[in-house]
Amino acid sequence: MADLATYTQMLITTEEIFEEFEDLDTRDQSQYLLELGYDLPRFALEEQRECDLVHGCQSQVWLTARAEETSSDPVIEFRADSDAEIVRGLITVLLASYSGKTASEILRLPIIDVFTRLQLKQYISPQRHNGLQGMVDRIREIARRHAPCTAYTEPSPVQVQLHTDTVAQPATVYDTLAVRRHFPVLNQLLDDGLTPVFLDSGASAQKPQVVIDKEREVEEQYFANAYRGRYRFGARIDEELENARQKIATFISAESSRQIAFTSGTTATINAVAFGWGNAHVEEGDEILITEMEHHANFVPWQQLALQRNATLRFIPMTNDGRLDMNRLDDVLTKKTKVLSVCGMSNVLGTVNPITELAARAHDVGAIIVVDGAQSVPHQVTNVVADDVDFLIFSGHKLYGPTGVGILYGKADRLEETDPILFGGHMIDRVYRDHSTWAAPPARFEAGTLPIVQAIGLGAAVDWVTGIGLASIHEHEQRLLQTATEQLQRIPGLTIFGPSVDRKGAIISFRIDDVHPEDLAIMLDRRAVLTRHGHHCAMPLHDLLGVSGTTRASFAAYNTKDDVTALVSAVEYACDELKRRR
Ligand code: PMP
Repeated sequence: MADLATYTQMLITTEEIFEEFEDLDTRDQSQYLLELGYDLPRFALEEQRECDLVHGCQSQVWLTARAEETSSDPVIEFRADSDAEIVRGLITVLLASYSGKTASEILRLPIIDVFTRLQLKQYISPQRHNGLQGMVDRIREIARRHAPCTAYTEPSPVQVQLHTDTVAQPATVYDTLAVRRHFPVLNQLLDDGLTPVFLDSGASAQKPQVVIDKEREVEEQYFANAYRGRYRFGARIDEELENARQKIATFISAESSRQIAFTSGTTATINAVAFGWGNAHVEEGDEILITEMEHHANFVPWQQLALQRNATLRFIPMTNDGRLDMNRLDDVLTKKTKVLSVCGMSNVLGTVNPITELAARAHDVGAIIVVDGAQSVPHQVTNVVADDVDFLIFSGHKLYGPTGVGILYGKADRLEETDPILFGGHMIDRVYRDHSTWAAPPARFEAGTLPIVQAIGLGAAVDWVTGIGLASIHEHEQRLLQTATEQLQRIPGLTIFGPSVDRKGAIISFRIDDVHPEDLAIMLDRRAVLTRHGHHCAMPLHDLLGVSGTTRASFAAYNTKDDVTALVSAVEYACDELKRRR
């Protein structure tokens, strides 16, 4: 113990650190933390042992401990070192707090109070925060091994929670025109003197000014790569990204922001789950269950996985009005099913699927459930815990956010058992010459440079949606859906595909006898009514419907009753024009 005791005596105490801090301004405090790092005794090269590395740290951190051998509640002395001076500063704070205390004192110590008093949030990035959590966990784990079992009952683990955010409160009244004013693209006069009636939000929603401003702010004021630099831009970017991650976690009621990975979009993410989870868990003879209403993004990856693994792709039968036939679910959901992957809302029919029930039924047979939330997350409140889904995936650009960013949510265990499919920087724990180990989620799924500006922009989009209130947006969209459906149905020869309004979201896909969907969409554009036509990346569904394509109008927070009127009158005009010319 002697050398360690001497080592502890060489260390500064927490009281001394507090005293120094109180006399310094913010910039000098940060410098002081670095200086603490310079003064910490360094490990000799032979002491930097692999087995003493603390995992989860961005830099190398070695930590050793020695406990008195005679006592039942021994004093534990810690030594630690790092290759980064700022981390050595943090280590000094940790050692001052923990080293030389008994095991039970260590376990009882409210370390968060020390961090709060030192206002560490200002000096350390979210990534460093994870490393700090890793060190605290290791110290407490050592103390737990030495603590007398009677002296201590374990409280919940210490969370070094330095980064938190408040969420805007929803407005009570839905003021459509006020909402619309947030969208510059909708408030312009086009060349032909019309204002756009944008009805293609199912493909990509427009962005409110706050999202555009946020992206611009990042680009103009502090852009840098993420999770790399300790200089001020880098630190700011890291913090902004972690804030966005937390906002998204809160938005879908995830337990932790560690369960949110930034990806490039829904398509990439479903592939990541299908092959990252599927390759490890789906075997020859197993079954993968999807539906015929899936977007190709949630269809083709599973089809290809089934082909590669010699598994069988099966489909939940559908009713004539475009819902899942839950009465026939047992025919296809069996003990052989390993994964059920289904959209929360169909991008063609608008059908809202009963996710909670599907999740429970999938779990009953030992399968996992993957939800393609590309359409559902922007239009209805999502609660991944209440729904008990294993994975939820969605894109930023349909949620009033930027393109190029998507989200992977997974239950903690599911993420742990998913292999990465993209390899490279940031996603590793250790790289050796002949093999590598992976970082903990979410970093494991974030190889390479992230869509940084887009992810931060998505955080702003989530704030915007939360500020209006997603439940209010949903109610507003459903009212528009109801009105549009009633009025369109009156047009002779017009067929709307999908279930009744109460079973669907605000998407209307329709056809008019003897009118090609593309011709119709072009005619609607003449009136600045912007709709989509074609198979909407859902060919198997269109095969089932017996049509090659449809025209689709999809609504969002900014659409108004006037937009509905414009749609209906433009469809009437287009029908007359197209039929007259024949
Ligand atoms: N799933 C559904 C239900 C969709 O509507 C879409 C986008 N049309 C996707 C997946 C694919 O999303 P992304 O293009 O953002 O990858």
